[in-house]
Amino acid sequence: MEKVIIIRYAEIHLKGKNRGYFERVFSINLERAMRGIRHELHRTSGRYLMANFPEERAGEICGRIARVFGVHSYSEGFCVPNDLESIFAAAKAVAPREGTFKVQTHRADKRYPLTSMELSAEIGGRLLGEFPALKVDVHEPEHTVFLDLRENGTALVFGSFERGAGGMPVGTSGKGLLLISGGIDSPVAGYMMAKRGMTVELLHFHSYPYTNEGAKEKVKELAKLLGRYSLSARLTTLNVAHIQEEIHRTCAAELNVTLLRRFMFRLAEKMAYELGAKCLVTGESLGQVASQTIEGITSSNAVVKLPVLRPLIGFDKEEIVLLAKKIGTYETSVLPYEDCCTVFLPDFPAIKPKLSFIEEEERKLDVEALLREALATKETFEL
Ligand code: ATP
Ligand code: MG
Repeated sequence: MEKVIIIRYAEIHLKGKNRGYFERVFSINLERAMRGIRHELHRTSGRYLMANFPEERAGEICGRIARVFGVHSYSEGFCVPNDLESIFAAAKAVAPREGTFKVQTHRADKRYPLTSMELSAEIGGRLLGEFPALKVDVHEPEHTVFLDLRENGTALVFGSFERGAGGMPVGTSGKGLLLISGGIDSPVAGYMMAKRGMTVELLHFHSYPYTNEGAKEKVKELAKLLGRYSLSARLTTLNVAHIQEEIHRTCAAELNVTLLRRFMFRLAEKMAYELGAKCLVTGESLGQVASQTIEGITSSNAVVKLPVLRPLIGFDKEEIVLLAKKIGTYETSVLPYEDCCTVFLPDFPAIKPKLSFIEEEERKLDVEALLREALATKETFEL
């Protein structure tokens, strides 16, 4: 009896002219998620079938499928010939041993000699005979045994539907560049964009020697965790320590963060053009800290032309933390390492800096030279 995993996609994205394209990207993503595990992926009408994998790794495989965007639901089950004996054998394997249940049949193969009702009744009856502690309840059963008769003479037999990650297949919404810190928010922002089908490139600013190797390792780890959803984890890093020093030495202290952020955005835009990304993505949430006021956002946006997407803009910290825990980045994000933003942090950062004041202070700096110097520190990691 062959164990399989039945994968259903979020149908809504697959309508119309783009259907073939979405399906191609989706199956490539499923293949990538299975990297390193023997398997076969078959497409049958309206769903995919993962087959011929090492059965003892079924749980791990389900975990990976659960993170692939575009998956609406999936079920562990069996693919068997559609004769009664084979179907019953599989039904026994997925059926509960006690409690209430029903059998629900879907019959794509309309030539099958039994109707859906007849087949459900037949298999249900046999299961009752096999497991005396079972009871039928067709209205509100605790368990359901699903039989799905395919047109190719096979039957899919499974006992549950697990919810997939939803969203759109990564790669169908262009590419964005995520500014990733070591904090809680930015990995969640990357997750949100990947969920909408965006390929996410990662850019991190460090302040070596003010920040240490540990801080970088932490970001690499976050990149890997995010890569389980975005299916790629290429991280670019740039050193901005000299920019911070220069700002600290030259400009009004309350603008330290504001000015640094404008440098970050300029550098990010340059990297985005280089990497083919069409937008920047940050983990900012309105009003969360001094630099995330509308004035702060305006000041950063003023130095770039690319759109800046902020998928967490309307989220409370609590909601972001909940998501970070759900996607598995929280534990790493809260490890105590210094972020470059905490170096040279002023006692009283400007909350509503005026653009004219910012520009006046910035004119004291050789912006282009500072940018060039930062770009020369570029490192790239394929994780
Ligand atoms: P996070 O939890 O993502 O660190 P935060 O609440 O600490 O966010 P800030 O430190 O103000 O807020 O950063 C706002 C956003 O700016 C981050 O979400 C991230 O997108 C970007 N950012 C901040 N620091 C860095 C960094 N060192 N490298 C790259 N991007 C950064
Ligand atoms: Mg931060």
